[in-house]
Amino acid sequence: MAGKRTITIIGGGVIGLTAAYALVREGHDVTLIERREDVGQEASFANGGQLSYRYVSPLADAGIARDALGWLFRPNSPISLRLKADPSQWRWLLAFLLACNRQTNRRNAGVLLDLALSGQAELQTYREEGLRDFLWRRPGKLVLYRNATTFHKAAKSVSDPQRQHAISPSECAEIEPAFAGLRDKIAGGIFSPEDEVADCFLFCEALRDALASAPNFRLIHGNATLTAGLRNRCNVLLDGKPFETDLVVLAAGIASRKLARPLGVDLPLYGLKGYSLTTGPRPGLVPLVSVTDYDNRVVYAGLGDRLRVAAMVDIGAQDTRLNPKRLGELRALVNETLPGALSEGDDTPWAGLRPATPTGVPIIDRTRYDNLLLNVGQGALGFTLSVGSALRLKEIVAGCDSRAIS
Ligand SMILES: Cc1cc2nc3c(=O)[nH]c(=O)nc-3n(C[C@H](O)[C@H](O)[C@H](O)COP(=O)(O)OP(=O)(O)OC[C@H]3O[C@@H](n4cnc5c(N)ncnc54)[C@H](O)[C@@H]3O)c2cc1C
Repeated sequence: MAGKRTITIIGGGVIGLTAAYALVREGHDVTLIERREDVGQEASFANGGQLSYRYVSPLADAGIARDALGWLFRPNSPISLRLKADPSQWRWLLAFLLACNRQTNRRNAGVLLDLALSGQAELQTYREEGLRDFLWRRPGKLVLYRNATTFHKAAKSVSDPQRQHAISPSECAEIEPAFAGLRDKIAGGIFSPEDEVADCFLFCEALRDALASAPNFRLIHGNATLTAGLRNRCNVLLDGKPFETDLVVLAAGIASRKLARPLGVDLPLYGLKGYSLTTGPRPGLVPLVSVTDYDNRVVYAGLGDRLRVAAMVDIGAQDTRLNPKRLGELRALVNETLPGALSEGDDTPWAGLRPATPTGVPIIDRTRYDNLLLNVGQGALGFTLSVGSALRLKEIVAGCDSRAIS
């Protein structure tokens, strides 16, 4: 194949693995370096499971700063803010606030929608080719609004009425009977019938297994670092030793910021901590449709016969420790919304850091190093955007001048 390259991807989360899958299909020789013993062990492990292709509007929007102030003083708030003496936090927050206007939000939502929908079509192709066993379903996504003003605003901004419908509380209850108890508490819902759910970790494993049979792929477990080299190139070190490659793709989630720093590349990434709970098997009892309780910012997905709930944005907690207070608050929100869904001692808690840019738009791009590409910053939507991000990366690789990288 003309233009075939040796490409090293750093990071075996959903972003690195989907990138590897797309580039291997293109005939490139791909090495994926992952520091953990298995793939998908960090942010991609137990996320909300939502492939919410039609629901990708960035968090940064007009009015969000005011709403967030309200949330901060609310019991069981979905958002918590711990200000720190950390310049990267302040810079991120400032850039976030600057992006909180309608015009920027619309423009960025358009970019994200294109990425998401291209990924949805491509995932369909992958599934038809035989990629399976990740609990994929297309049940549609129902976003429930408790507040009438927010609901009417959301209903007005539906851009494709063929594929997203504003519906009444009783229609919401018909679509997802598990949430029928909320009928009198909600103003309405937006239903996107083509949205999907799946288990992100199982998806990572499915990609790993499919890649394992490709002769032009290898997975290496080790710690990668980057240093600046000669002639606008960067060098990859694997466990401290030089590792030869034409191109490097940095896809290491929130760790990418630290990895890029020695190169003088300052990535505007910040880890937004969130939590999930996964119940034990509940045959016949998990919701069919994927549901977002908008005002509480809690998402619900049936993954096989288990229920996964995910929520919380803790700004300032840059670790993945399980905070009992926040988990207690999440359980309280779920118990109030879906009584009996959780039972004591039978839900597995998890915490992860969403690798977020202030605008919500990921960075899939070249850098000032001729051989270094970025695929980072998918934030709260990394599973949804992963396949589309990989397609974008593939186009960039195709456009790389082979003389510049050899
Ligand atoms: C609570 C929560 C709920 C979420 N829900 C959803 C959802 O419903 N839908 C959705 O679309 N998205 C969701 N997300 C977001 C999504 O999970 C993330 O955007 C996505 O997993 C990020 O993937 P990643 O590959 O960039 O990062 P990661 O999964 O963190 O992968 C990065 C990998 O790089 C490896 N690495 C780091 N440094 C090195 C190094 N030096 N050498 C080698 N390897 C290295 C790490 O070990 C890791 O495996 C959620 C996130 C959270 C926290």
